[in-house]
Amino acid sequence: MRKSRVTKSIKETQKLGEELAKRVQNGGVICLYGDLGAGKTTLVQGIARGLGIKQKVVSPTFIIVRKYGQLWHVDLYRLRNLLEIKDLGLEELWQDKRNIVVVEWPERAVGLWPKNAIKITLETVGESERKISI
Ligand code: ADP
Ligand code: MG
Repeated sequence: MRKSRVTKSIKETQKLGEELAKRVQNGGVICLYGDLGAGKTTLVQGIARGLGIKQKVVSPTFIIVRKYGQLWHVDLYRLRNLLEIKDLGLEELWQDKRNIVVVEWPERAVGLWPKNAIKITLETVGESERKISI
């Protein structure tokens, strides 16, 4: 069954990300589903902090994949063509079991993700409320 929680601020979403980091600290893939502004990148900031990463995670704009230590942050928002996504060779990232891969817009490449990927859905339920289901 999916568990969901409503966060009421950026800080709370980041805190949830910090807790999530424990589940992937030895490696794993997390898929983040949700519209623009739902808080995906904010959650990644918390995950990074929970992993002890000091660099600030930013929205990748034109860069699709960013690496922060053992954390790979992938944002497929701008890629609408499945072939372009396949060309990235993302599978290589989770072939190394120690890698932590967090993906925004995973729905751009349905079926590409490993079976054991953790799926998280973020929904805007108010100006500063986000429902996060795991
Ligand atoms: P996404 O990556 O899903 O597009 P971002 O994390 O970049 O979303 O942005 C989330 C936006 O929502 C930010 O502008 C942030 O200020 C705002 N926001 C408001 N409430 C929350 C909350 N509870 N959690 C996360 N972000 C929130
Ligand atoms: Mg984002």
